[in-house]
Amino acid sequence: METLKKAHGVCPYCGKGIPSNGQMQFGSPVQTCKRCKKQYVDTSYQELAISGIPDAVFSVKNRLKLLTLLGVIFVVAAGLTVQCIVTQGSVPVKGFIASVLTLPMCVYVLWDILQIKTGRKLKKMERKREESEARLSDPVYAQTLHDAGYAVPERFLRQRYDL
Ligand SMILES: [Zn+2]
Repeated sequence: METLKKAHGVCPYCGKGIPSNGQMQFGSPVQTCKRCKKQYVDTSYQELAISGIPDAVFSVKNRLKLLTLLGVIFVVAAGLTVQCIVTQGSVPVKGFIASVLTLPMCVYVLWDILQIKTGRKLKKMERKREESEARLSDPVYAQTLHDAGYAVPERFLRQRYDL
């Protein structure tokens, strides 16, 4: 199999943009372009059987910091919105939008913390790691990632007889 090209935000073959949320994603880095159907390597994906599960995934401390920040923004935005409605009889659009957006984000972070504390997140990540192991048990796939520069553990690579 030929070495796959790495994508840097766009498909290396046809230039189609690759949507990204800027966050680490877990799954196969080998992705197929929706437009030209060619395969490329997207380094924003981590193959868990190679990289291991990053500690940051389970960091409650980081999430509490984020929650505090979001909470402060929500309280300020909601407070200003209410004040504006009461004193001026009009709804401040920016303040209103900021409150509406930050509240579900707070709920999401809280939910995420709960998933970590109850051990559900660990189970979920372990499942993803098993899926990753299963993908890598295909020697052709393992070799493809190896060729693309991933530190694929030896046990996944087909025994080579170099004479
Ligand atoms: Zn393409």
